[in-house]
Amino acid sequence: MILVLKEELNDDQKTQLEKHLEDFSFFTYLKFDDRYLAIAPDKNIKTKIDFLRLPFVKEVIETDHPYPLASHTLKKEASVVQVGDLQIGGPKLTVMAGPCSIETQAQLEAVAKTIMKTKTDVFRAGAFKPRSSPYTFQGLGKDGLTLLKNIKQKYKIPIISEIIAPEQIEEFDDIIDILQIGARNMQNYHLLKALAKSGKPVLLKRNPANTIDEWLMSAEYLLAGGNENVILCERGSKTFDPKLPIAFNTNIIKTIKENTHLPLIVDPSHATGDSSLVEQIALSAVIAGADGVLIEVHPRPELAVTDARQVLSCESFVSLTDKLQIVSELSGRRFR
Ligand code: PEP
Ligand code: MN
Repeated sequence: MILVLKEELNDDQKTQLEKHLEDFSFFTYLKFDDRYLAIAPDKNIKTKIDFLRLPFVKEVIETDHPYPLASHTLKKEASVVQVGDLQIGGPKLTVMAGPCSIETQAQLEAVAKTIMKTKTDVFRAGAFKPRSSPYTFQGLGKDGLTLLKNIKQKYKIPIISEIIAPEQIEEFDDIIDILQIGARNMQNYHLLKALAKSGKPVLLKRNPANTIDEWLMSAEYLLAGGNENVILCERGSKTFDPKLPIAFNTNIIKTIKENTHLPLIVDPSHATGDSSLVEQIALSAVIAGADGVLIEVHPRPELAVTDARQVLSCESFVSLTDKLQIVSELSGRRFR
């Protein structure tokens, strides 16, 4: 059940509302799409009439949708997330690109030059790398953020990088424009709640073993915590076939769009794990309606410390952007 309120409530008004709830139930108060809301789980609510009698309740929406904010329940039109001058989810295709991990300043520089030449919108690079094996490279950490800061200052480009703990919010704050939640942390609710409070744009990846509903419930944590700057990122699904551990179906895009208004970026690098497939998946994702793509690029792919098999060389990335321009325009989107 969702109550649409006439105004933001004070503590007394909240107490008046909550006395109508069953034991242990509570409202989550938030502002969403310019409306003040109080949301409680449906099953614990007594009657709609009790609430409508209260002077500060404008409307009662009876819904048992598990993610009312992320779904189209309250918002039909597509959401646009603003990052500086950039609009993600608007009429222009968003391109994010950069290395998987930050290695050296020279490596970042080489990629940044390509990024600027192609007018790519967002520079990506990971300083903190949550890896499946504890014996592999875990990222340069804080030193990596310093290298990224130099890129941001020199090229004045928005930066996205993965955050793995709430304590990092402060150190990310003046360097990173979009906080990436990696697949492994998709259901780290402690992190989701902290990033909700930060209010900063968040790119939430779907874990390849999680369902669309589970992913959108995680997005709901960000929205319910008051952060409307949520961008989704699809990076393929685990399959049952050992010959094809991860696969990307373009038909997932329609299903995602039917279930949420949030902007959607497709990551063909992680969705395939294979640089020879990145181009075709990126182009097909744009034709299928993705709002943007996130591509891993490295000046010397064979030397990349992480994800070497899937990163594109700078030359291949330039060639991909030429083709992205053609398909985005064919699909009715502006490219630059
Ligand atoms: C990454 O973006 O480099 C990454 C680790 O992605 P994911 O969380 O999707 O595995
Ligand atoms: Mn990677």
